[in-house]
Amino acid sequence: MLSFYPGPSKIYPQVVDFIQEAQQTGLLSMNHRSQPFMEVCQKAIEGLKAKLHIPADYTVVFTSSATEVWEIIAQSFPQDHQYHIFNGSFGEKWFDYSAKIKLWHSKETRVLSTKFPLNDEKKLDHSEIYDRAEIICLTLNETANGTALSPEFMSKVRQLYPEKLIAVDATSSLGGVVIDFSQADIWFASVQKCLGLPAGLGLIILSPNAVHKAYDVHERNHYNSLASILDNIRKYQTPYTPNVLNIYLLMRIMEMVEPIEIVSQRIKQQADFYYQFLAQFTEYQLLVSNPLVRSQTVIAIHASEEKIKEIKEKSQKQNIILGNGYGEWKETTFRVANFPAITADEIAQLQDFLQKNLH
Ligand SMILES: *Cc1c(COP(=O)(O)O)cnc(C)c1O
Repeated sequence: MLSFYPGPSKIYPQVVDFIQEAQQTGLLSMNHRSQPFMEVCQKAIEGLKAKLHIPADYTVVFTSSATEVWEIIAQSFPQDHQYHIFNGSFGEKWFDYSAKIKLWHSKETRVLSTKFPLNDEKKLDHSEIYDRAEIICLTLNETANGTALSPEFMSKVRQLYPEKLIAVDATSSLGGVVIDFSQADIWFASVQKCLGLPAGLGLIILSPNAVHKAYDVHERNHYNSLASILDNIRKYQTPYTPNVLNIYLLMRIMEMVEPIEIVSQRIKQQADFYYQFLAQFTEYQLLVSNPLVRSQTVIAIHASEEKIKEIKEKSQKQNIILGNGYGEWKETTFRVANFPAITADEIAQLQDFLQKNLH
C-alpha cells in the first residue's frame, strides 16, 4: 500500500524496528519520572533542535496533539485580544476553539478573525484590530487547501508587530520546510505529518518571550496549563504520563534524518515537479493557481465531484491512498502529501498512476 494521505501519513519504515528496540530497553514499562525516561526526553528535544535549527534559547515541550495546543494557547496566554488570520478549515477550527474557550473564561475577551482569499497573501497594515491584539495566530501551511504563508510574509508580521506574541500552527510544515523560528514566539505541530511518526504526540516551540509571558499570566487551572508544562520540562518531565513510545521514536528519527536544509531541498524539488507535472491535465486542475502561495508539503487537486470520486476509486484498486478533500473542498479536491518519509520511488509510482488516469 502506498499512502499519500496528509495526516496521519506514511510513517518511516524504520519505526517498526525502533518500537521493538524501545520495548527491549524496558523503557515502555518505566515511570515517566525515572532517569532513563528523562534522558530520552532530553535527547528527543536536543535532536529536534539540532536537526531543525531551533534557537538554543527556545524551549520545546510536549503535548498530545496540535489541537490540544489550540486550547493551551487560549487558556495560558494573555486573556484579552486574540486575533486569527486564516484562509482555510484548520485555521478556522483553531479560531472556533479559541473563541469558545475565551468566551467561557470571560465575556470581556475578544477573539477576532480575518479570512483571506485562497490565491492572495493577506495584506498587513496597522488596523485597529491588529493594534489591539495581544496574540496574532497564523497557520503556516493550510493542510485543508494546500496553501502556505511565505517566509517574506512571516518576517513582515514580525517587523510590523515586534511587541506582540505571534503563534503559528506549523503542523504540516515542521520537519519538511526550513522555518526561521525567530519570526514568531509560539510554534506548534504534531508528529504524524512531516515528522513521519504515528499520531498521538504534539509539540510546542516557545521563544523566551513566550515563556516569560506564560509565567506572567500564571494560569494553572488545567492539567495542561503551560506554566505547569514548563515547570516539568525543566526536569525533562511532563505533568501527566506522556506518550513515552512516541517520544522515544522522535528521538530515534531525529538521529536518523538529515538536517532540515537538506530535507527541505528534496521536498521543494519534488513539489516543483508535482506542480509542473499536474499542470498538463484539464479535467483535474491545481486548486491553488497562484504559485506564490502554494504549499510545498500538501498539494491540492481540484475537479468535479464525479471526477474526484472516479480517481479515488481507481487509486484504491491499485492500493494507492490519496488524501480526501477537506472542509469546503471535501468533495471537489483530492490532496497529496509531499512529506519527507515518502520516497522518490513511491512518488514515481504515483505519477505513473496519475499520468494514466487523470483525464
Ligand atoms: C493535522 C493538523 C492539525 C491537527 O493535528 P492533531 O494532531 O490531529 O491535533 C492542526 N493544524 C493543522 C494545520 C494540521 O494540518
